Amino acid sequence: KTESAYEYPLLIKQLFLAPVEDRPEEQIIYRDETAISYRLWRERVHKLANALESVGVTHGSTVAMLDWDSHRYLECYYAVPMMGAVLHMINMRLSPEQLAYTIEHAEDDVIICHADFLPLLEAIKGRIAEGRKFIIIDENGVVTDSALKIEGEYEVMLAEASSHYDFPDFDENTRATTFYTTGTTGLPKGVYFSHRQMVLHTLVNTVSLSSPSVQGRMHRESVYMPMTPMFHVHAWGIPYIATYLGIKQVYPGKYEPAMLLKLLVTHKVTFSHCVPTILHLILKSPAAAQFDLSNWSVIIGGAALPKAMTLMALERGIDVFGGYGMSETAPVLSISHLSSAETELPPEEQAALRSRTGKPVGLTQLRIVDEEGKDVPRDDKTPGEIIVRSPYLTQGYLKDNVHSEKLWEGGWLHTNDVACINEQGSVRIVDRTKDVIKVGGEWLGSLEIEDVIARHEGVSEVAVIAFPDDQWGEVPMAIVVTAEGAEVSESEVKQTVKASVDSGVLPREAITLKVRFADAISKTSVGKTNKVALREQFLS
Ligand code: ADP
Repeated sequence: KTESAYEYPLLIKQLFLAPVEDRPEEQIIYRDETAISYRLWRERVHKLANALESVGVTHGSTVAMLDWDSHRYLECYYAVPMMGAVLHMINMRLSPEQLAYTIEHAEDDVIICHADFLPLLEAIKGRIAEGRKFIIIDENGVVTDSALKIEGEYEVMLAEASSHYDFPDFDENTRATTFYTTGTTGLPKGVYFSHRQMVLHTLVNTVSLSSPSVQGRMHRESVYMPMTPMFHVHAWGIPYIATYLGIKQVYPGKYEPAMLLKLLVTHKVTFSHCVPTILHLILKSPAAAQFDLSNWSVIIGGAALPKAMTLMALERGIDVFGGYGMSETAPVLSISHLSSAETELPPEEQAALRSRTGKPVGLTQLRIVDEEGKDVPRDDKTPGEIIVRSPYLTQGYLKDNVHSEKLWEGGWLHTNDVACINEQGSVRIVDRTKDVIKVGGEWLGSLEIEDVIARHEGVSEVAVIAFPDDQWGEVPMAIVVTAEGAEVSESEVKQTVKASVDSGVLPREAITLKVRFADAISKTSVGKTNKVALREQFLS
């Protein structure tokens, strides 16, 4: 075997090359406070690496970040892995116990923390090993008095640091990022991704977002603003894509509806992503009603995109479409793109297509299999579990062989999501395996029923859970939040479902529905319906 001098590992630092060379003056914005150019941002990434080195960070260290969405977070997305260290993105909405657990489990060496979260860390001080170091982000540049040993303030440290750092080459399989699943049950589990995986995720999804059809949702003239937090699955990896494209980026800090709207409009944002709850908030906000959002594309994922919401967004001229992924998959697995011809269809038909989970993105194999592991027919009716392979899926859970083996049983990653697939290969998720309702032995997807009930104009929100039943084993139970000022009766909800059963939209078993009314639906730390909490609330 001849040794070749040619070696070019896929490292995050290569994603860093083009934008700054090509678009040095393009801007990265933070709320209504700061705007920096890519040129300055690159300099800050180098300075951050030097600042981190000065507190002992080296190849193999773990640096945790605890901040709202910011240009500083984006600096960490690059500087930390480019040094060969691992970036741990802390979920600030975990319980104090879980927060301490993730910090200890990830073995964080340095924690960069926004002043807003200092009290959170101080409260768990006793549960964090001594020796972990803290850098504080204080927007006034002041190092606050704290019970924790603070090494310095982020901006002050950057100001003092050299603006050149020699980022080394190393093995592309080096771990780059880690974070924890939101853990509605049990302890949070750590997932992790290598440089090679993040580079491939970025390249594959740059293509999948920029070239679905002539409308290409992300291109050189797009303006990007995330609305899924940067701690949650790398904000779906989209900040890496936006930076790779060298486009204008807007980071909204803490998510406040008024600020999100202000930034959307002022910066003429063209592309965002969020869970349905956030889009719902924007669509329902009286302040948003006066704004023109017709240049805005938004990809909805993390939970099913209800057709009623798609229709509402389409009415406002918003280009809304579904995507699918999970913490374990970096995350993007599939996107529901429409062809140019399909965007001419009437809203109802478009909504049905846009609300699907879509087709797998490049390099991703996705199958839907029955309990024996056989592919289900492509009839859009037979449910099965989604299993996937792709070059950028977590190789397991951090320091957890038992769950890792289960995740990767048979060489495919098991998503625990139940879906159907149509003749064209487009996927439609009907439930999670743990939420599926078994009516008389048949699988009934809760998401399909939620989708139908949400179409009732008096309904603001709905969640369907399984309710134990002597005759059927389980029946669906809808928990309904009525829209402000509206009155909806139990029989109206049942009638809506029955009409959909009669027209063949819902399976026959849905007719067994029970209905309860509530003031609100419990949400998880990332804004999704929390069915574990709902079951506790309504079944005990
Ligand atoms: P958590 O399980 O804590 O919510 P994730 O954020 O990783 O963690 O969520 C991934 C899950 O979200 C998927 O396994 C799936 O159940 C759900 N999900 C993601 N996208 C969609 C979608 N488009 N439609 C329905 N469910 C989705």
